[in-house]
Amino acid sequence: MTENDINKDYSCMDDYDPNSILPDEALRRIFATISAITETESIPIREALGRVLATNIISEINVPSGRNSAMDGYAINAADLPPEGTIPLELIGSCFAGKPFDGEIKKGECVRIMTGAIMPEGSDTVVMQELVEVSGNQISIGNDTKSGSNVRQAGEDLAIGDLVLEKGMKLSPADIGLLASLGLAEVSLTRKLRVAFFSTGDELRSVGEKLDNGAIYDSNRYTLYGMLSRLGVDIIDMGVVKDDPELMDQAFLEAADNTDVLITSGGVSVGEADYVKETLLKHGEVDFWKVAMKPGRPLTFGKLGSTYFFGLPGNPVSVMVTFYQFVQPALKKMVGERSTMPIMMKVACISKLKKRPGRVEYQRGILEQDETGRMVVRKTGAQGSGILRSMADANCFIVLPLENNGVNPDDLVDVQLFHGVV
Ligand code: AMP
Ligand code: MG
Repeated sequence: MTENDINKDYSCMDDYDPNSILPDEALRRIFATISAITETESIPIREALGRVLATNIISEINVPSGRNSAMDGYAINAADLPPEGTIPLELIGSCFAGKPFDGEIKKGECVRIMTGAIMPEGSDTVVMQELVEVSGNQISIGNDTKSGSNVRQAGEDLAIGDLVLEKGMKLSPADIGLLASLGLAEVSLTRKLRVAFFSTGDELRSVGEKLDNGAIYDSNRYTLYGMLSRLGVDIIDMGVVKDDPELMDQAFLEAADNTDVLITSGGVSVGEADYVKETLLKHGEVDFWKVAMKPGRPLTFGKLGSTYFFGLPGNPVSVMVTFYQFVQPALKKMVGERSTMPIMMKVACISKLKKRPGRVEYQRGILEQDETGRMVVRKTGAQGSGILRSMADANCFIVLPLENNGVNPDDLVDVQLFHGVV
């Protein structure tokens, strides 16, 4: 087999297909069909990471609750700052975070103060300890501190009435911290989705089983499991279903109405052992699409009772590409997440990429800094839809538009990141 053969996607031809729809159109139709779930649940904040907020969070307190010091130093009244030279102040006490000073600072007085301690009455400025000379109960300060310096105002992080987090946000570690700083122990989230999946194919064996002649291990259930785990859904793994209309019937009926979403892989092309389409037509409402994309042209979307159905292609890379482009945005929309699409950016591509017009391609890339510190992308080896290694090595998709007919080194390309920063 030559390098060229390996690169070729045998499942589809490379030409324009008048019956294909564009990926954007496929996504638009999916979004037009699905509705967001409305059930919510109250969850302890630590378990809320990565889940989606069901309500706006409005601050009922000021954070910080009172004016406090941002430095270790001396709390003074700015009226005492000398116009030039130095002046002495009398040290009348000290205060710490959690241990305020009881009295009031009068003219010519100061209080030793630690970071986080509440500003004593009568003070409005903190002089850093490095700028102060201390002798016994006297300190001497110069004119190098501005009025109001080193003081954190009450509510400067979050003020009473502030909209802190918006409904539909996916909670990050920082968000969990914000919720804790408001004193909230629990938070209202959209409930978890129940997502079932199975693989189809007589040739598939599960890990741990013996590989007989012509058989391959089922990898799609494992990539799907991983991608779904990242989305925080409840996962129901229904195993491998043989290419047999009756077994297929049973599997579809088992999932219908018991899950929010059913995902299958394989069996959606036009081969003789491809039963997904006809089984669906029997039990549900189905759209069978050819999407003008590579990899992943055949795609089925529809409804089985109240369960949404995605029939993904069988090739391991096609499964991942169609999941990321269609299933993931759909699952995010279903739980009310505001932002459903991955981060895109334009960068220079340092590889030569082969492409013919007629399909949007999702080549697998590695985004990294070159020796000058510039972000560049290069492709991950052979790009066949059966070469899962191309996904494993990648950290992004290089998205090449319909009409693109190849990329030369240093051309700008659109890159879709697999992961966000936080
Ligand atoms: P199909 O769409 O069922 O014709 O499958 C297309 C290609 O993907 C065939 O080469 C299958 O053997 C392969 N394939 C299908 N399902 C899986 C799976 N779960 N794991 C690995 N390869 C698969
Ligand atoms: Mg098959």
